[in-house]
Amino acid sequence: MNIVLYPDDPLQHVAAPVERFGPQLEKLAATMLETMYEHEGVGLAAPQVGIAKRFLVCHDLESDPVCLVNPEILEMDGAEVADEGCLSIPRIYAPVQRAERIHVRAKDPLGNNLDFEARGFLARIIQHETDHLDGRVFLDRVDILTRQSKLAEWEALRLSLESAAPLG
Ligand code: ZN
Repeated sequence: MNIVLYPDDPLQHVAAPVERFGPQLEKLAATMLETMYEHEGVGLAAPQVGIAKRFLVCHDLESDPVCLVNPEILEMDGAEVADEGCLSIPRIYAPVQRAERIHVRAKDPLGNNLDFEARGFLARIIQHETDHLDGRVFLDRVDILTRQSKLAEWEALRLSLESAAPLG
């Protein structure tokens, strides 16, 4: 799977709820996890691979990898600032404030209910990835000056990455 780079479609769109659960969705989630590991990421939302649907995979490397379908964050507590990056905006990092503890309700790919609390790094990943489902990226969560300078840095980097593509 190819990763969609910011600001290409459908990264800035609100994704549609998943309505069909089953083995096919489970397989798709497994392929997304593989893509995420290939890029050394810890989370990947469906819009980042061109699928405008509300599901994501993540793996904080301490617990098992999870796929959250139609996730909702019901409660948020505390605040923590830490550097974040994004596979759709590679090599750009900025400090982002996130809730320290969240209560999540979602379904797994087979349609089973999930209801759990996440803290710290896992809570951060889930907040970052659910933002993608609402068409938002981490640079939408920083102050305007940081946002402008990081976006300028990314535009220049993206141009150089594209012009460095192999010829022939
Ligand atoms: Zn991201």
